[in-house]
Amino acid sequence: MDRDVLTPTAPHVSDNPWAMAQRQFDQAAERLALKRGLREYLRVPEWEFTVHFPVKMDDGTVRVFTGYRVMHSTVLGPTKGGIRYHPRVDLDEVRALAMWMTWKCALMHLPYGGAKGGVACDPHRLSPRELEALTRRYATEIAIIMGPKSDIPAPDVGTNEQVMAWMMDTYSMHRGYSVPAVVTGKPLAIGGSAGRREATGRGVSIIVREAARALGLPLAGEPVVVQGFGNVGSVAARLLHEAGCRVVAVSDVHGGIYHPGGLDIPAVERHVRATGSVVAFPGAEPVTNAELLELPCTFLVPAALEGQITWQNAGRIRARVIVEGANGPTTPEADEILARRGVTVVPDILANAGGVVVSYFEWVQDLQSFFWSEEEITRRLEAIMVRGFQRIWALAEAERVSLRTAALILGVQRVAAALMRRGIYP
Ligand code: NAD
Repeated sequence: MDRDVLTPTAPHVSDNPWAMAQRQFDQAAERLALKRGLREYLRVPEWEFTVHFPVKMDDGTVRVFTGYRVMHSTVLGPTKGGIRYHPRVDLDEVRALAMWMTWKCALMHLPYGGAKGGVACDPHRLSPRELEALTRRYATEIAIIMGPKSDIPAPDVGTNEQVMAWMMDTYSMHRGYSVPAVVTGKPLAIGGSAGRREATGRGVSIIVREAARALGLPLAGEPVVVQGFGNVGSVAARLLHEAGCRVVAVSDVHGGIYHPGGLDIPAVERHVRATGSVVAFPGAEPVTNAELLELPCTFLVPAALEGQITWQNAGRIRARVIVEGANGPTTPEADEILARRGVTVVPDILANAGGVVVSYFEWVQDLQSFFWSEEEITRRLEAIMVRGFQRIWALAEAERVSLRTAALILGVQRVAAALMRRGIYP
């Protein structure tokens, strides 16, 4: 399949996810010939909140943390997007993640706009009490925008079911009654959905299978490399292992492990539960995260952070297909290089959409107080992911563009069409 060759970009785009997100949007807007006013409006977030708030630490001191919540678009409905706890969180990162959520939700036909939030902190250096205090205060700071009809957070890097439970409880305490639908990715016991924890990784594994089918590649025995062994990466690795792939390398923030014959992923999961990292898994060679990305494999699944595959290493990537579990792992410059080298990149807004799809199921179940079985969730997720893949693959072939451009065209087009029907207020 021919790929569109993008115009050369300034190197600094690699370093800034917001510059990346806006550049990707510009390309889609150009292809769609969007009118200037529409383009200017969709190119920036509707709302941006920055909050500085105090937390009492266990040693009696008070520390001030900075958090964000950005709502990129409310055109299709309430905003939806995860909360990230990571030392590198800043406004530009949150803006980019919020914009990608808008296109992802539109692409998957979910009635949401995009949002994202985060707090600049290292959650692994906070005690459970400090983490709870930080979460409850942050939730209070952004409570004016949160709500099941306005803005619905979910987990992302560094947050989990427990953090969502504290956010839901804090919001509910302020209201005076329980509001489960205000967040998704909650524990089952308080209105979470069956299958949500696995949803993003499951979606990634479905997309790997569909990409293999479309490219005429086998799955059984094919080498797979996964960067990041958190919620997304570990589930994707396990499901691909169960599907018969040979998962040869995985990593986390501490480093990676490589075994060309294939890793026993359930054993790696047990090792992580026991030691906190994939590092030093018996029988595997150590590799750095940078080396891991360049290992020979058929499928590479980046599932950690953005900006991992750049103009600096794209020429050395030996994967045949990249399926983006993470948001924004490939920069626009790297996209160009990979396209020239014939590497197929299945973009984040499709590949990792399983998470928000099941978050949508969770929200619907909470609003109706009527819960579905895990089989029902998995069946519906599977159908939506396969349909999404087929639509994008067909458009990419018809328009002779990359899968990313095709996905962005579909996402942006849907939001733009809705905006035109709604009109500009007042
Ligand atoms: P997580 O916190 O559960 O796991 C992140 C993993 O990445 C951990 O293994 C961590 O050690 C590793 N990591 C962190 N920094 C790293 C670095 N510099 N180099 C290598 N590894 C590093 O987070 P997650 O929820 O699995 O999210 C991973 C990615 O997937 C993010 O880009 C996130 O935005 C995206 N995503 C998550 C969801 C979801 O439902 N959780 C949905 C869609 C997309």
